Amino acid sequence: MRGFHCVDPSHGRIDFTGADDEELFGNIRAHTAEAHPDLTDSQVRDMMAGADWWRSLATSGVNSGSSPSAYDK
Ligand SMILES: [Zn+2]
Repeated sequence: MRGFHCVDPSHGRIDFTGADDEELFGNIRAHTAEAHPDLTDSQVRDMMAGADWWRSLATSGVNSGSSPSAYDK
């Protein structure tokens, strides 16, 4: 099981899980399409992979508390 969580002032903390990265991606993508329409598919994959730009957002500012990458659950 893989996990990820998104923290944003517009919705607080939301947890996502998936049997594998593909299922997790689908669940996160369904959320970002609604709540963060500016994010592209490749940006969501970068977030799951723990890209540097996302790590800095996930640990400071309004998205602080989000997972810096997808994790085993
Ligand atoms: Zn969100």
